[in-house]
Amino acid sequence: MPKKFLVGGEWRESNEVMEAKFPYDGSVVDSVYMAQRQDLDDAMAAAVRGFEITRKLPSYKRTDILWNLQRLMRDHFDELVDLMIMEGGKNRKTAVGEMTRALQTIGVSAEEAHRLGGEVFSIDWTPAGANRQGFTRRAPIGTILCITPFNYPINLACHKIGPAIATGNAFILKPAEKTPLSSVLLAELVLEAGYPAEAVSMLNCWGPLAGEMVEDDRIAMISFTGSASVGWMLKSKAGKKKVVLELGGNAGFIVHSDADMALAVREAASGGFANAGQNCISVQRMLVQQDVFEEFADGFVEAVKALKVGDPRDADTDVGPLINEREAERVENWVSEAVRAGAALLYGGQRQGAMFPPTVLGQTTDEMRVNCEEVFAPVVTLRPYRTWDDAIAIINDSPYGLQAGIFTQDIKRIMDAWDRIDVGGLHVNSASTFRVDHMPYGGIKASGLGREGVKYAIDDMTEIRLMVLNLN
Ligand code: NAD
Repeated sequence: MPKKFLVGGEWRESNEVMEAKFPYDGSVVDSVYMAQRQDLDDAMAAAVRGFEITRKLPSYKRTDILWNLQRLMRDHFDELVDLMIMEGGKNRKTAVGEMTRALQTIGVSAEEAHRLGGEVFSIDWTPAGANRQGFTRRAPIGTILCITPFNYPINLACHKIGPAIATGNAFILKPAEKTPLSSVLLAELVLEAGYPAEAVSMLNCWGPLAGEMVEDDRIAMISFTGSASVGWMLKSKAGKKKVVLELGGNAGFIVHSDADMALAVREAASGGFANAGQNCISVQRMLVQQDVFEEFADGFVEAVKALKVGDPRDADTDVGPLINEREAERVENWVSEAVRAGAALLYGGQRQGAMFPPTVLGQTTDEMRVNCEEVFAPVVTLRPYRTWDDAIAIINDSPYGLQAGIFTQDIKRIMDAWDRIDVGGLHVNSASTFRVDHMPYGGIKASGLGREGVKYAIDDMTEIRLMVLNLN
């Protein structure tokens, strides 16, 4: 039986079924019913009713529900890991890492649910305010439309539904078509954890249909994680709604001549290829000071050769398939195009079905797509630079600005980079891929708008409600 979708706590079927395939060999794993326009309409109507219940939940109840959810997710840890491997081809190590982080995301949400406070502040700065007292508190806003991508289907959903529950909002989760299975189980667990059913919808449906909800006044906020093209298009249709966009990047990585080379090599090898490079903060553009270029390049290529490529179900696989063969073909085209234009293939490059091996390109130029666009695959470029300023200029020459990593021991250089590298997050002596789930996370320029990281999402999912008491 295909898996159902959830409309305000009610599991439903439709006349349209979509198969979910294992990217590694194309075999059918399972199938899901796809929600239709009427289901979306019903989900929004249910959310409006559900919000009238959730907005009144005290913080101890919201916290309890989130701890319940964390416990249930822990009970279903292996099942969720297996679903992510099978629906998305995610290698087991990364899937286990994602589930571990998802538990933290929900745990942090449970803690933050207690902290939705406010302020008592003096209104009497001018005579008009004499004998009045000001108070604020954070109030939930309504229904959050949570649209998620395929590459981290559980943790990125938790980054939206955790804060939504913590704040007492209703939500509609719209998972990526490419990974429709794990969210079905996640939605079951949210209901079992005790969040009011009408406030919970999980709609497997086609992206453009979900896009229609963006224009509906019953939605208070769009929380979108996915590609820049879709994200910015949705923002243009969102009217007066709040919009948070977590989009793509082509992260930079600078190794200066005073860096700890062994550390930089290790960080580069994991940061460029984890989750087969399908990571918005994956290391993509590597810049190495020319005096240490040879030393770094030799060590790096050796480290990349040691990565184990293969079946994502195996416990020791480092790099599994891309999400589908079409994506692997796209990357193959980008790499061949770069090589035709003069790039050197230092390692990798041979596609087999949806498998694309870890690939390192030398002698690339700014205009090549492997540099100036988001490659979203296990492909990195490696370039020497002369001066520190040259490196910063190259990193900033990008439409994106999500995260970057720099390697140096010099505190002045570190502070200079923090000032001048245009990104949402700078990592020092670490790859751009570092993330823990309570830190503010998000990008500037084409990489997005707003921040996630539970507390920061909570700010967006609430508004300041002022009360002024006249004591005259
Ligand atoms: P995508 O943009 O193709 O899809 C993301 C979601 O948007 C899916 O649920 C999809 O169904 C939906 N969608 C597609 N068209 C839509 C439309 N017209 N209206 C409404 N919804 C629509 O992205 P993807 O391929 O699933 O994910 C990869 C992208 O996500 C990459 O660019 C990556 O960098 C980005 N990403 C960003 C972050 C971050 O936190 N910044 C994290 C993970 C992934």
